[in-house]
Amino acid sequence: MTDGKQLKEKLFYERKNGWEIINSETKEDIYKFCNGYIEFLNTAKTEREVVKYAINQAEKNGFVDIINYENLKAGDKVFYINRDKSVYLAIIGKNNIEDGINVIGSHGDSPRLDLKPNPVYEDNGFAYLKTHYYGGIKKYQWTAIPLSIHGVVVKPTGEKVEICIGEKEDEPVFTITDLLPHLAQEQMEKKLKDGISGEDLNILVGSIPYNEKDLTEKVKLNILNILNEKYGITEIDFLSSEIEIVPAFKSRSSGLDSSMVAGYGQDDRVCVYTSLKAMMEIENPETTAVCIISDKEEIGSVGNTGMESKVFDRFVSEILNKLGFNKPNLLEKVFCHSKMLSADVDSAMDPIYSSVSEKNNASFLGRGVALSKYTGSRGKSGASDANAEYVGYIRRLFEENNILYQIAELGKIDIGGGGTIAYILANKGMDVIDCGVPVLSMHSPYEVTSKFDIYSAYKIYKIFWN
Ligand code: MN
Ligand code: MN
Repeated sequence: MTDGKQLKEKLFYERKNGWEIINSETKEDIYKFCNGYIEFLNTAKTEREVVKYAINQAEKNGFVDIINYENLKAGDKVFYINRDKSVYLAIIGKNNIEDGINVIGSHGDSPRLDLKPNPVYEDNGFAYLKTHYYGGIKKYQWTAIPLSIHGVVVKPTGEKVEICIGEKEDEPVFTITDLLPHLAQEQMEKKLKDGISGEDLNILVGSIPYNEKDLTEKVKLNILNILNEKYGITEIDFLSSEIEIVPAFKSRSSGLDSSMVAGYGQDDRVCVYTSLKAMMEIENPETTAVCIISDKEEIGSVGNTGMESKVFDRFVSEILNKLGFNKPNLLEKVFCHSKMLSADVDSAMDPIYSSVSEKNNASFLGRGVALSKYTGSRGKSGASDANAEYVGYIRRLFEENNILYQIAELGKIDIGGGGTIAYILANKGMDVIDCGVPVLSMHSPYEVTSKFDIYSAYKIYKIFWN
């Protein structure tokens, strides 16, 4: 090797494609791991289903609801369910908890369409459900695709009816119609963001009239009758419901080489699955390990199930109480000594839309889990910026364990921006860095990730807690 080549190898930071540095055994492990992930995506399409899945896994692995513990000791595994939409899990460490905890936090909610409180109406012989979109969607992507209905209806008696239609092969699916190109001249002249309006995102649910003469709104009546027979609900019950419309199609392996996963809700269920899976494999950690699956991230982390709520603080306080040595200001002290990975997806460089990325500082599919030192927009505004000392610590974890990673910004400067729950935990005093899987077509009904990156996220989450 020439001097120059040697020097270059020593001094340059060369970014590698993960598939080129693994053997066939690891590749098999990756594919096997991702089969489980795909199954999870097809099982848990809403935040409530994510929580149900997480609790099921946790109970199988020895986790117990914290209310059932009077006293906690090292090695104990607990969880706290926040209103069926968010969950926190912890494994008590051997070290003094005053020296901090290790947190990994993801979110179980994804962009979708929610039903309005008064959703059902009839128009020209069709019955529809009106929706109000949730999170950042491109509205045109939600027309002319198969959709399913998931959610709960709570009656004044407290009885909770769970609804899920459109996932099984023998069940009907739903769709939002779009205009045929032949007559869409006017629509096609509009700006993309105005092509489909929010008030036109109405789900087509029926077309057979109730069989009786001299009656108005017979199609709506027939649909309400079907719902009543199946679920025992009437129109007013929609007032106290949370019903979500999500893509009905299945998540699948993608690409001729099956190197990717295509599916709905990978933001942020890819980080939910990888962190949960890692958590299930941890035993007796030195430092208390905490896994957060939060809700409402897509609309600003607000409300009592969002990360901004004090419910997480209450969970950690409860741990301190049950360890038997809580005292004034201990919670704040614990937080200030804690470390966190904000496990949320990153926008990957898409060669078709490369103009929005600065390729020296973009994440690529297949190059490993992506770190974002900061997010935000316009001059880092709103960013939680990880301290260099902490980034150094995280780098060591990756490099000592030979886990491939990359570090990236979300797009070119001043082109847009975004954020995660990172700042919320950083505000409590924790050291936080974003660490998640790069995604193509983020927030669309069919997002794409690399199996290599998914596996590398799982690996580093496990190492972080251990
Ligand atoms: Mn996210
Ligand atoms: Mn998102």
